[in-house]
Amino acid sequence: MANLKYSRQREAIKTFLMTRKDHPTADVVYNNIRKEYPNISLGTVYRNLSLLVDIGEAIKVPTSDGAEHFDGNVMPHYHFVCTRCNSVIDLEMEDIDYINEVAAKNFLGKIEGHSTFFYGLCPECMNKADN
Ligand SMILES: [Zn+2]
Ligand SMILES: [Zn+2]
Repeated sequence: MANLKYSRQREAIKTFLMTRKDHPTADVVYNNIRKEYPNISLGTVYRNLSLLVDIGEAIKVPTSDGAEHFDGNVMPHYHFVCTRCNSVIDLEMEDIDYINEVAAKNFLGKIEGHSTFFYGLCPECMNKADN
């Protein structure tokens, strides 16, 4: 995509994503970018987020809460999703790429990757549950 027009708004969206570790939804990105670009629409933010995902500069985190969460960290890593507050947290853990081989064992096609997320209670919700 060499003919992609440079967009200051897209750059601002990307910069914002890089500063966040909490995997914001399009709404959260919109509410923050709007402070800098008051005329931007949610649709524009959404289009730019999708574009960043398409060109590999952001990833969409698959979760079960129905909202799309975006991540500026495109290095392979695993996510945890809290079933109570829906927060999305990066997990520091060893690489489990061997599950591709596990999956390939009884499969005649070619496994090229996997998408895995972990779920349960985040530390904050766990503390609340204790009290
Ligand atoms: Zn939680
Ligand atoms: Zn992440």
